[in-house]
Amino acid sequence: MRKNSEEEKSQMETILKQVKDPELLSQIEKVVPFHGFLTSGALIGIQMLNIARRELDVQDGERIFVTCETKSCMPDPFQILAGATIGNNGLKIMNWGKMAVTVNKQAPEGASSIKGIRILLDSEKTKDYPKLHAWFLNTEKFSHLEIVPILLAAGEKVYSWKFVDLDVPVRNKKRIQCCKKCGEMFIQHDDELLCGGCTE
Ligand SMILES: [Zn+2]
Repeated sequence: MRKNSEEEKSQMETILKQVKDPELLSQIEKVVPFHGFLTSGALIGIQMLNIARRELDVQDGERIFVTCETKSCMPDPFQILAGATIGNNGLKIMNWGKMAVTVNKQAPEGASSIKGIRILLDSEKTKDYPKLHAWFLNTEKFSHLEIVPILLAAGEKVYSWKFVDLDVPVRNKKRIQCCKKCGEMFIQHDDELLCGGCTE
């Protein structure tokens, strides 16, 4: 991670003084120490989380499941603010390089599908904010200090979302296989006889 100068930190403090919503400010204050700095991607993650919570009517303390379509920055707010982590299987990362997430609540026992929401940073909508649009399409370089205020001002106007039906994964009994090559134990997904390390 890039080390941010004292100068940048004080500029960011000035930007955050403009944040009127105390809930949003408190979310930002929780994300910063974990993520290191308020990056544009981390703020986008916070804004997407808030859309998902409202649209899915997520209650405080209720578990959510998140699929994040980029590995940079955006996953962290979901881990910090929603407790959807890689380790508890609440967060799945598809490294598709897309500014999009899909969020759903816990499916009821026995359900085979559940309603979720997919939220996207929409390039049709970022067009209304030329600097943000150029940052998104990487046609020009901007610092987070330039992009964060635009995201704060735009709020939800740059996102699009739609509800989606998601399959609830069937839990199979965990099978442990001894790798035929290295002799170490691994969780078998199909009928593979070699562990992931030996397959690569
Ligand atoms: Zn092996």
